[in-house]
Amino acid sequence: MHPLGSQDATSTGDRSHLGALGDLPGLDRFGPRPLADLHRHLDGSMRAQTLRALAAAEGVAMAEIPRFFAGMGLDAALACFALTLATLGRAEAVAQVVDEICADAAAEGVGTLELRFAPQLHGQPGEPTPDLTRMRRMIAAAAEGLAGRAGLLLCALYGEPPALVEALVDMAIAHPAVVGVDLAGGPAAGASFGMADYGPAFQRARRAGLGVTVHAGEGRPPTEIAVAIAQLGAQRIGHGTTLLADPRVVDLVRERGVTIEACIRSNVHVGAIATPAQHPIGALLAQEVRVCICTDNTLLSAVDAPGEHALARTLPGMDDAALLRAIGHGHAARFGREGGR
Ligand SMILES: [Zn+2]
Repeated sequence: MHPLGSQDATSTGDRSHLGALGDLPGLDRFGPRPLADLHRHLDGSMRAQTLRALAAAEGVAMAEIPRFFAGMGLDAALACFALTLATLGRAEAVAQVVDEICADAAAEGVGTLELRFAPQLHGQPGEPTPDLTRMRRMIAAAAEGLAGRAGLLLCALYGEPPALVEALVDMAIAHPAVVGVDLAGGPAAGASFGMADYGPAFQRARRAGLGVTVHAGEGRPPTEIAVAIAQLGAQRIGHGTTLLADPRVVDLVRERGVTIEACIRSNVHVGAIATPAQHPIGALLAQEVRVCICTDNTLLSAVDAPGEHALARTLPGMDDAALLRAIGHGHAARFGREGGR
């Protein structure tokens, strides 16, 4: 087992254990700065004490802070969000959590930050879902919390009706704090809609000057990555752990200058890779694929940006120069309203 595997299995409670990473050989939590983190979910990255306080205020029963663990699978990981989302049904809570995540990221040495969320998932019990007016209110609250410190991405979800995704793109275009759109979650068996059904909406977002990123190849076949790029216009890919399995898709990613958002411990948690050492970041960088290092969910995976960068440095094929290249790819791949990077 990789030395960090036991940390994954025992990650409970607060974030104090993160400091222990610095005690492992070869890990330096005080490495290059500033870092970039382009893939951080609002509803998976709130502070533990804020989650507790909001749960108490909202009457949400919570025996303990939900945490991912190695090999739990994507469905079980996604189920953890039900608890955090139950505390984030009010716009004020969304604004508070976004403000705190920006402060946390700054304290981690992150100079380039993008936060993402699915406004259609935020609401009070009994309210209709989705509600377009409430979604706009949630986007405005997130923008208020950001206060210009990060870019905001709106997440469509695998399986949603294309009409809802079109509405989300309308909202993304309309709000100046939104710099891009994402497709998150994962494909479900028997779903009425697949990734390609969102092509027109995502291509429209691209034409309007928004960035496009897609969760793809998260342990699933690399054809998904090719569809995300060719049909949805993705400039970045969330995870893409299977990319190396198809050299033609590697060529496509390289030719288009697509950046892979690597979230190493998240990938171990959902079972896309068995151990951090199986992550292809070193091999991808060696093949001149652009890869940046991201956290995904700082609360649920019990990670932070310095820890994920330190972990990446220890992986096969990585050295100081490769780590610096990955950090540079992160800064360069940030989305702006001018049409991506
Ligand atoms: Zn993600």
